Amino acid sequence: MEILFFALEKVGQKKDWERRAEMCAQIIDKNSIENCTFGFMKRKVLLIYTGGTIGMEKDYETGSLQAFDFGNIFKKLPEMKLIECEVSVHPFKKPLDSSDMGPEEWKIIANYIGKNYDKYDGFLILHGTDTMSYTASALSFMLKNLKKPVILTGSQLPIGDLRTDAKENLLTSLYYASLYENEEAVLQEVAVYFEYKLLRGNRTLKYSAEFFDAYQTPNYPVLGQSGVHLKVKKELLWRSKNDAEFFVDDHVSQDVLFWRIFPGMHFNHFTEIPKVKVLVLQVFGSGTIFNTEKTQRILQQLRNQGTEIVVISQCVSGGISFGKYSNSNIFSKIGAISGNDITAESAITKAMHLLDNPKYSGTFSENFAKNICGEMSEN
Ligand code: ASP
Repeated sequence: MEILFFALEKVGQKKDWERRAEMCAQIIDKNSIENCTFGFMKRKVLLIYTGGTIGMEKDYETGSLQAFDFGNIFKKLPEMKLIECEVSVHPFKKPLDSSDMGPEEWKIIANYIGKNYDKYDGFLILHGTDTMSYTASALSFMLKNLKKPVILTGSQLPIGDLRTDAKENLLTSLYYASLYENEEAVLQEVAVYFEYKLLRGNRTLKYSAEFFDAYQTPNYPVLGQSGVHLKVKKELLWRSKNDAEFFVDDHVSQDVLFWRIFPGMHFNHFTEIPKVKVLVLQVFGSGTIFNTEKTQRILQQLRNQGTEIVVISQCVSGGISFGKYSNSNIFSKIGAISGNDITAESAITKAMHLLDNPKYSGTFSENFAKNICGEMSEN
């Protein structure tokens, strides 16, 4: 009893949580402190449900999929109550198939996170799988100086399906979204959690429409893995370079076009050169394109009219290296920008975010060449 009084007196000046944590530490074996969860220090997670397969259930009479009422999520998944975090569920009024998600929805999500940034410790976005990599990439550019976790997840089978992958994806994402150490969020970036893997959001691509293991980051290692233990590779995590305050920059320009070239492609289908501000050009291997006079002329014309050309690779792994083969020399000649090892999803959303963005000084090409938030390797 005496010891207890002494402890209370000593920590009397401290904040509530600090006091309780210290009290708790005194009665817990120091060797097992890493596994200790302070039940009274529940982290708060804001869950935004946007739509997609994860929010569906099967009507077993008709066999068809229908949207599931997310207001009932705690009834459907009572396990959620067991997780050591407080979850606040905010569903989209009308759940969307992710093929209907685009710049407007990215802005809504980014600003909603911005508005609630101080009230929550982490954010979880439930999203359709088809365009999740685009949304994750776009958010990574919009949420500046992020110091809290923003996790996106979805599922290949509906939450109401017997064999669903939704449950594991959702529950473990909640763990990652509320993972803190010494009062600091372990994850301070936009990540995708799917099928036991935690991945950098702006490096992901949806690789399978069939397997539960649907996402990959071929040019960046897995950030964390969930097995018996929840693992995070700390040395791989993104940390914003400055201590500046978090803010949302939801700038998006849609004056961006994407072309994938192919052997035998000719440009006769275009009666005129498209008047677009940024062309993301997906070329062969490490940056080659057929060496015809016509190609050179068209690319030069695009540049002459002011179009920025970002060159990315059709290979999912590795990246662009101008000058490696003579069939890439055209790009240096016309002043195209190397996308290095960026994904198509990230290149498109990065271009949309940077184009005509008043918050950035410098030219488009200078800004695109920079690694803003872990989306591409630095040369
Ligand atoms: N079409 C669905 C979507 O992307 C697929 C899914 O969620 O898995 O919204």
